[in-house]
Amino acid sequence: MKKILSLLARAVLGLGLLFGLYLAAGIIYPLSAPEAIAPRDLLLRDVRLIDLDTGAIRDGTDILVRDGRIAEVGRELPAADAEVLDANGRYALPGLFDMHVHSLRMAPVLTHPLQVAAGVTAVRDMGGCLGEHDSWVACAADKRQWNRDVIAGRMVGPRFDVVTSLAINGGKEIPSGWDPALGSATAAGARARVEHDAARGIDFLKPYSMLPREGYFALAEAAAEQDLYLAGHKPVRVSALEAIEAGQRSFEHAFLFIWECFPGAAEVRETENLREVYTHAMRERMLDKHSEAMCDALMDNMVAAGAAYVPTHTTRKLDAYSADPDFRDDPRLRYVPSPLRTLWLVDADSMAGRTDAAGLGSYRRFYEFGIAQSGRAHARGVQVLAGTDSPDSFAFPGFALHDELAHLAQSGMSNLDVLRAATVEPARFLGLEGRAGVLAAGARADILLLDADPLADIENIRTVNTVVLAGAVYDREYLDALLEEVESAAGHWSMWPKFAWQALRSPIFRAQAAD
Ligand SMILES: [Zn+2]
Repeated sequence: MKKILSLLARAVLGLGLLFGLYLAAGIIYPLSAPEAIAPRDLLLRDVRLIDLDTGAIRDGTDILVRDGRIAEVGRELPAADAEVLDANGRYALPGLFDMHVHSLRMAPVLTHPLQVAAGVTAVRDMGGCLGEHDSWVACAADKRQWNRDVIAGRMVGPRFDVVTSLAINGGKEIPSGWDPALGSATAAGARARVEHDAARGIDFLKPYSMLPREGYFALAEAAAEQDLYLAGHKPVRVSALEAIEAGQRSFEHAFLFIWECFPGAAEVRETENLREVYTHAMRERMLDKHSEAMCDALMDNMVAAGAAYVPTHTTRKLDAYSADPDFRDDPRLRYVPSPLRTLWLVDADSMAGRTDAAGLGSYRRFYEFGIAQSGRAHARGVQVLAGTDSPDSFAFPGFALHDELAHLAQSGMSNLDVLRAATVEPARFLGLEGRAGVLAAGARADILLLDADPLADIENIRTVNTVVLAGAVYDREYLDALLEEVESAAGHWSMWPKFAWQALRSPIFRAQAAD
């Protein structure tokens, strides 16, 4: 017996040791980001240029790229010393913006290559940190460095034109080691928070759903004094009209028009138990009692204030399809690192488990009604921007932007306006009009070549043949190699130890997990 016990003890010890070795090896095993391509001067010969102002297609156009910018657009341009790349009549449009993403520190290995392969050449990252470093999520310093590396051709990835704050939600989100008052529950906390973020060069502040009224309004006021602005969720306790008046510049996710445009909206804002907002009965009530007149007034206010709408319909699709086997078995899951894939499926399970068939039905209605609202908002003049919330559950980095463009087309927007929502309009929102999101002299050389015409069918946005990013040329062969590299990194044996090690040491992750 004693012998058996000691054998057993040794076996357990051995296994523990092996597991420890696996963890340690996984953590330190280097997974490198794909190699970037150096920018060069370039003459793109014979493109079908899609003019996003008029919807005209200009056959036989040449684009000359010098020093990472478009130097000239015209016919039969001389190449001089620029390298000639024959586009063979492929469709050319500006690189795409994804106006709502989140970035992990491992983004250069796991998500940036997917974004570039999908033609996403710039992102608005909607996550942040309080300090300069986190083991799990990317902070402002990471994103600024990535942006420099991408422009210099040292890294494969999208541009990061602006950086945001950690989401501001009243205090529970504040990582340990920081003053919870920075969650801006009070006016004093909000002022301290603005000072904190302004001192770190943050470009805009992201309000979140549970932010109390007092903190929200103080935040908006203090932000304006520092030339910062708010962009993010509409806090539940604040009405959209109040938020627009306070100067919030963008509203994220397809809840906005459903929650705000029904006669019980004021009651919801004041409800004691916020869980009630998320019930099947409440969703049905919001949809049944939806008031177009209320939405018209809200949309007109957004137009007058220049507030943008970023519906990220992809995230609502998860709510509606969490139990659907086809949705859950998406072949693109192979590009998602195994720990994240597990989290996504757990998320889908809990969504599906939380609700019965009737509840799922109301989520479908909510999802589809939300899509229709994007079309209505756009028709009324609201600036609608394409964003995905990737890598949130089932928002596949890169690919999800194509999915979102299909959603916007489904909403009734013309294909031309859908393309503008990922190019011209984001550039305008970011103050980069004429310098990005357009194929014209002086703009940055972020160019997509597609095999098929996206004006004829928005699904053709998926036919990316070549991506030019700041003058670096990524052809189809290279883009396929990028996909393969991500797939192999995503399934790599070291992924679990890496994720666990990075997440568990992250105060931001721990605060989120506890919430
Ligand atoms: Zn988000």
